[in-house]
Amino acid sequence: MNVCSKCKNEITGDIYISKLNKTKILCKNCYYAETFCITMSKIMQIDKKYKNINLKIYKEKLILEIYQDNKQKDLNKKLEIEKQQDKLKVVLLPDKITKIIDIKDFEELIYIINNQKQVGIPNQKEVKLLRQKYKPGTRIELIKMYDYINPVSSGTIGSVDFIDDIGNIHMKWENGSRLSLIAGLDEFRILED
Ligand SMILES: [Zn+2]
Repeated sequence: MNVCSKCKNEITGDIYISKLNKTKILCKNCYYAETFCITMSKIMQIDKKYKNINLKIYKEKLILEIYQDNKQKDLNKKLEIEKQQDKLKVVLLPDKITKIIDIKDFEELIYIINNQKQVGIPNQKEVKLLRQKYKPGTRIELIKMYDYINPVSSGTIGSVDFIDDIGNIHMKWENGSRLSLIAGLDEFRILED
């Protein structure tokens, strides 16, 4: 008989391993409760770590406001966060995108949002350099795309189509996606023949 180390009841369904102590087993309810506590403490850490982030609690929801700068003016994004089983339901505003993600993906989402605003538009000289380096037809392997809506998967191969006047590298990806790369934000490398 398996007994939950938290509530001491017999575990009738799936057995879960505690994330805090790998030698302990938990029932589903206790596991979800534990995950929720870990998640909440990590969200609190995010609130403390970033000066441009403000966390509020409103009814059953957490509201995370992400500002453009440290002065907490010019709201960039607003995230409405609710618990959904052992994951988070996150509504991203003003984009109106809903995501069901775990805390690791959530931390990455915050990272992406904060990085996107830091990448400025390249000047003409920088665009010229990009065009010299990434000529049409150059084969590229994607390492990581920092896009929270529908990123191209890491490891995808594509070729450069053209570079527009604000330095976006327009791509033809092998999976049919046409999402462009942003130099200085996305990670990718040229594939040599
Ligand atoms: Zn339990």
